[in-house]
Amino acid sequence: MYLTIKPFLVLLCMAGAFSYFFYKTKALIDLMRAAPGGVIIDRIPERTFMFLREVIWQSSVRRNKPIVGIAHTLIFWGFLVITVGTLEMMVEGIFHGLTISSLSPTVHGWYVFISDFAAIGVLGGVAFGFYRRLVIKPDYLTNGLDAKLILVFTATLMISLYGYNMFRIPLEPDAFINSYFILSTPLAAMFGLNGASSSLAFAGTEFFYWVHLSMVLGFLVYIPNSKHLHVLSAAPNIFFKRLGPEKAFEKTDFEDESLEQYGIANSTQLPWGMVLDLYACTECGRCEEQCPAAMTGKPLSPKKIIHDLKVDLLSHSKTIREKGDLGAIPGFVQNEGEISPDVIWSCTTCRACEVSCPVGIEQISPIIESRRNLVQMEAAFPAELQTVFKNLENNFTPWAFPADSRADWCQELGVKQMSEHRGAEVLYYVGCAGSFDDRAKKVATAIVKLLKMASIDFAILGKEEKCNGDPARRAGNEYLAQMLIQENVETLNKYQPKTILAACPHCFNTLRNEYPAFGAQYHVVHHSQFLRELVDSGQIPLNNKSDERITYHDSCYLGRWNGEYDAPRALLKSAGVKLDEVERRRTKGLCCGAGGARMFMEETIGKRVNIERTEELTAKKTKTVAANCPFCTTMITDGLKDANQQDDVVVKDIAEILLEATGKG
Ligand code: SF4
Ligand code: SF4
Repeated sequence: MYLTIKPFLVLLCMAGAFSYFFYKTKALIDLMRAAPGGVIIDRIPERTFMFLREVIWQSSVRRNKPIVGIAHTLIFWGFLVITVGTLEMMVEGIFHGLTISSLSPTVHGWYVFISDFAAIGVLGGVAFGFYRRLVIKPDYLTNGLDAKLILVFTATLMISLYGYNMFRIPLEPDAFINSYFILSTPLAAMFGLNGASSSLAFAGTEFFYWVHLSMVLGFLVYIPNSKHLHVLSAAPNIFFKRLGPEKAFEKTDFEDESLEQYGIANSTQLPWGMVLDLYACTECGRCEEQCPAAMTGKPLSPKKIIHDLKVDLLSHSKTIREKGDLGAIPGFVQNEGEISPDVIWSCTTCRACEVSCPVGIEQISPIIESRRNLVQMEAAFPAELQTVFKNLENNFTPWAFPADSRADWCQELGVKQMSEHRGAEVLYYVGCAGSFDDRAKKVATAIVKLLKMASIDFAILGKEEKCNGDPARRAGNEYLAQMLIQENVETLNKYQPKTILAACPHCFNTLRNEYPAFGAQYHVVHHSQFLRELVDSGQIPLNNKSDERITYHDSCYLGRWNGEYDAPRALLKSAGVKLDEVERRRTKGLCCGAGGARMFMEETIGKRVNIERTEELTAKKTKTVAANCPFCTTMITDGLKDANQQDDVVVKDIAEILLEATGKG
């Protein structure tokens, strides 16, 4: 009787669970399809390789967190294997006796052999998950009932699989595959089931069959409503994520007269890629752990903003999908809301969040899009930026210096300008800091001396140079940024330089990664890279090497935005100095607090980011801190002053350290 109705029961349960799953999943897909923008499927081989590496091989999960990553990898791989057996159980529940053995007993044997191992791997991963959530309890981890429940689900799923297998062995003692149960067989013996009666074996098999099936179907029902939606969305999110040039910001087309909205104000305007990002978040907190804003007490947490955007989006799901009253959907930035203006303006665009995210989420994009809306649609931005925008418009620099004094810093140095030396091999793009800031001018002077020492044929733009657009763009004033970019592009295209040398990572990043979208694609190098080549080729002789112990600060825009960590270190080593590295370095390097136009804003909430970073650097007790960015130099110098250590520790640019090593500094 039971065996007669079992197929119908199995079918009924599966139909219910799958229908609900598809209903909920379809709503999520419809919501994504209603989002603006189209799917970009370019560079398929590159995307496929990335998918294999980050999803199948799980490399991004193990990055920076090997133990957590191994636990997740065991669960992921185990699930891949066990899902085949689960499907087999479903089919066999409906068509009794139809198993993989019906196709090939040997394949079936090897499959159960592997799945027996896979299940213990999953249990190991789950055990570590429990240990982490119940004992270690890291602050950055969302440690709610949701996460623990899923661990219980998973453990029950694996235990029920072993239970099912253990009772199957006495039920069919002569079955071909029994010898392949490498773990279930000893387990059955351990529990004394080898001699179990056939009725007990049958009852046990069926009991665990239903436990297993209930868990699987329960999982299906649970996934679309929980943070475990990432099980479905993380893989496509990684496959479809934007590829280089490394994370250039989306360009607004101001020529498009139909455009009524600049930036993003509410969830109806989130493009599909961002919607997929929201679905993919696992709430692992790796981004929050690395975020300088979150760790210094600002209201911004990249994990939370992604979560809050998802909650906001899902709360308007029906209206968006059914194209209801979209105009009634409020903006997600609200003064007293979860996403307040302070959340949006706290970001330094350091990219620590994006680099640490295992599922390829771009946390900076919604922040920048939101700034664009606040600045361009609502004129709501920190008061300090008003002056910066005005200076950029009038003086082409964030500061109140006249544009025609841009080349004054090098009057005594005999530096040529492109207008008088059009064919120069190298265009040295000095940047606003190098041109106007007294401290950065010394670095620019050191670079000029080094270039001359190496007999490099170079020139600067002088008065023709304008701010590269970085601060305006990151502050959300895309219109102003594009105005500056267009004017620079015109100048660059007039001279067509073979190489552009930038001593500021913000200039370097913008010229290298963002200018191509505006029609200026040039070979752009940071001074650490260029000087390294000159040292390696012997063009800069180092006759005065120092063996001083120093520490080094990675800038975000050279490091995480452009992946250059080695050139500055190699240069410092060439100069003879001994590097005493801080804990947070390279991909985990802590921001100085100046990026994302934060350099020009007051920092009134929480601890100042530059102080947090300076404390870490000075804990090394070196007399020198090396930097590669004028903004970092300023921020760390300010941090030293704040700690009254300005007489004990000095911040030097790598170019200055190199010049000293030549003996002609
Ligand atoms: S870019 Fe940096 S400051 Fe901004 S959210 Fe990410 S980690 Fe935080
Ligand atoms: S955004 Fe990425 S790193 Fe941050 S919590 Fe979500 S999955 Fe983790």
